Amino acid sequence: MIKPMPKLTRLNSKVATINTDKAATFSVNRITGRELGRIRKRIAVRDMCVCQRCHQPTSEFEIDHRIPLFMGGSDSDENRQLLCIACHKLKSLEDLKLQQGVQ
Ligand SMILES: [Zn+2]
Repeated sequence: MIKPMPKLTRLNSKVATINTDKAATFSVNRITGRELGRIRKRIAVRDMCVCQRCHQPTSEFEIDHRIPLFMGGSDSDENRQLLCIACHKLKSLEDLKLQQGVQ
C-alpha cells in the first residue's frame, strides 16, 4: 500500500469542491437565487443587454428559454436568451398557448 501524500490529499479535496460547484450548475430543479443571478449576468453579457426579440437595448429583462422546457428545451445557456419585460410577457403567453395545445 502507498500512503497518500498530504499534498495530494489537499488537492483531492480541492477537486471535490470544484466538482460540487459544477454539479450545482447542471442541476435543473435546484437553481438557487445566487445561481440564477449568475445566469442572468452571464446571459446579459452575452446578449449585451439587447432584447433578442425586439432588438432594443434594455436594462430590465428576463431570461427566457427559446425552446420551453416543457417542449424538451434544455436548461443551458444555448437555450437561454435575454428578453425585455414586454417581449418576455408575450413569449410566456405564446409558450402557455403551446403548452395548452400540447397537453
Ligand atoms: Zn423586447
